[in-house]
Amino acid sequence: MSCCSARTKRKLKREIRLHKQRSKIDYELQEKMNCNVICGGCKDSFRFDSFELKIHCNLCEQFFHCKVAGPCRGEACQIDTSNGVKHRARYCYDCIDKVFKNGEVLCKECALMDKTTKD
Ligand SMILES: [Zn+2]
Ligand SMILES: [Zn+2]
Ligand SMILES: [Zn+2]
Repeated sequence: MSCCSARTKRKLKREIRLHKQRSKIDYELQEKMNCNVICGGCKDSFRFDSFELKIHCNLCEQFFHCKVAGPCRGEACQIDTSNGVKHRARYCYDCIDKVFKNGEVLCKECALMDKTTKD
């Protein structure tokens, strides 16, 4: 009896641990979805799921609801999505090198790549 109950106890412990891990992930996701994130531009917090969320900058990896630059026209920033639509990575003002007249931008990474390939 003793060995049998010990096994079940151990199994139960493992299940509890697994459950805890799972709920931790859920919690983290929920935290992201429901809580405020800090805008990298104005350092104001805003709701992650609100209409205010504009971009997640591809370079500095912060969320921005202001200081949002246009899509980068560099080749490295063109992403083909599965439905054939081209998606361009977006950046904040701090991470771009140039703004073109049509509103497109060149991010610092693409600008750097441009320079290194030209030299
Ligand atoms: Zn940025
Ligand atoms: Zn902001
Ligand atoms: Zn770029």
